[in-house]
Amino acid sequence: MPRRLGQHFLKDRSVIARILAEAGVGPQDRILEIGPGRGALTRDLVGIAGEVLAVELDRDLAERLKDLPRLRVIHEDFLKVDLERLLAPHDDWKVVANLPYYITTPILEKLLLEGSPRIRGMWVMVQKEVAERMCARGTRESGSLSHFIQYHAQVRKLFRVRPGSFQPPPEVDSAVVSLVPHRTPPVDAPPDLLFRLIRTAFCARRKTLRRSLAGVLGDPVAALEAAGIEPSRRPETLLLEEFAALARAAGAAR
Ligand code: SAM
Repeated sequence: MPRRLGQHFLKDRSVIARILAEAGVGPQDRILEIGPGRGALTRDLVGIAGEVLAVELDRDLAERLKDLPRLRVIHEDFLKVDLERLLAPHDDWKVVANLPYYITTPILEKLLLEGSPRIRGMWVMVQKEVAERMCARGTRESGSLSHFIQYHAQVRKLFRVRPGSFQPPPEVDSAVVSLVPHRTPPVDAPPDLLFRLIRTAFCARRKTLRRSLAGVLGDPVAALEAAGIEPSRRPETLLLEEFAALARAAGAAR
């Protein structure tokens, strides 16, 4: 059984039905699927949706799906496709996918940075720990990924999926999450500075902010206090809104 390319195929029909129900897939929908594999989700999608576009890197798998009705299969590495060109001119796409876990973060980054304006929502299977990091707010699981995702979308963990739902079973639990891209960012802050602060802070997640941000902020204590943040806090305790307040305070002090 092939394990390369994150190939863990869904075999549990109830999980497939639940994903489609959560995504509210109907005849009016245009669906983008990343990694259709053997078509476990795809076959149901083409039966319900108006149009399905699937990008599959494995040539044999892509070849096997190409006769399904209402399906366009593109044999390519999703990370290399010109997403804007692929989705234009429509701006009502839904993304439904059981993602290859080895490239979950780059796929989500690409969808949110390049595809957002043309995507209404995403319903994707990811590793359970990744789902928890995506949704974390001020807890131990919080990190750069949480802030990136929450800056770009409304994210929700929908349900957990056990390894036995896949063939072959992965070594980890999985979860389905939904993401609805924000049309305007949920916080007001210069994005370059905001994400530089977030990345720098989480590079040294055990350090207090006054220490970890010393290289980016001339006077970290003054900037943190101006933003109403106690300088001895650690990055995982901060909400996106607090990092945004810090970026505004730091920007104003420049
Ligand atoms: N959707 C199928 C299912 O649920 O049974 C397969 C999901 S499997 C977890 C991930 C799929 O992504 C595999 O078919 C794999 O070949 C494909 N894949 C891996 N890397 C990819 C990439 N860079 N671009 C497109 N597809 C990729």
